[in-house]
Amino acid sequence: MRLWAVALMCAGLASADALYLDDSWPEATRATLQELANEVWDVVAEMFHSSLPLDLPIRVRQSQAAVPMTRVLEDEINIRITAHGTYYAQFAFQLGHELGHVMLDPRRTNGVVEALCIAVSYEVLDRVGDKAAMSPAFPWLGDYAKNFQPYQRDDQNTVLKKFPREIQDLVAQKRWSELADYLRAHAAEMEAGHANDREVQTLAAIALRSGPVEWGELAGIAGNTSPSVSEDPRFRVLPLTPEAIARASDLLCRMGIGGGN
Ligand SMILES: [Zn+2]
Repeated sequence: MRLWAVALMCAGLASADALYLDDSWPEATRATLQELANEVWDVVAEMFHSSLPLDLPIRVRQSQAAVPMTRVLEDEINIRITAHGTYYAQFAFQLGHELGHVMLDPRRTNGVVEALCIAVSYEVLDRVGDKAAMSPAFPWLGDYAKNFQPYQRDDQNTVLKKFPREIQDLVAQKRWSELADYLRAHAAEMEAGHANDREVQTLAAIALRSGPVEWGELAGIAGNTSPSVSEDPRFRVLPLTPEAIARASDLLCRMGIGGGN
């Protein structure tokens, strides 16, 4: 009975075999980066412990483009990563963000979804760092373990420093309901095209992680738009429906989204 339940669970879970680095990666680094990619994928699967919105193989390619990106093609999910060389923490950070899109639904995005993916990438760095320090899957990963969490903190602090002192204080002093109020008043700035979109998204990601997060609650949430992904499966930037926001309101209200709080 127990074995059967485990087998059933695994069928719907993200499987490491389904994620591969293609030959756009230099041979010298491809093997270790594939090992790290498997670790990141394991951590994301553990966080969401739920089915993928799309059951397609995931190809990860290296790109000279300006930013990482995830696109759904006919027979694969295609992730491009811009980290080069052996910047493992940056690789995990970018891949964690893009796998956030894969779990939320890569066919849709918007400012809220981007904030959630930043939160996923931060969580991935924390968890991969912990796992690599305690029981590294590979010796090299154990040696590198200490670098993952500082990368997360540095990214967060670099963004926080761009906000006025009083907003930095809300985070430092854990005044989360005031931070939610601030984010509610600035929610429109999270959308692409605003000069500080990435900064406000990051602030929202920090707010989300201020308490425990049941990540599984967010699986597939990005697909809840009008039209829905089943009505229009093309990639589109669309807001979440009020119903989707209401369903995840316990988490999204920390970011000043939905609810009355
Ligand atoms: Zn993104």
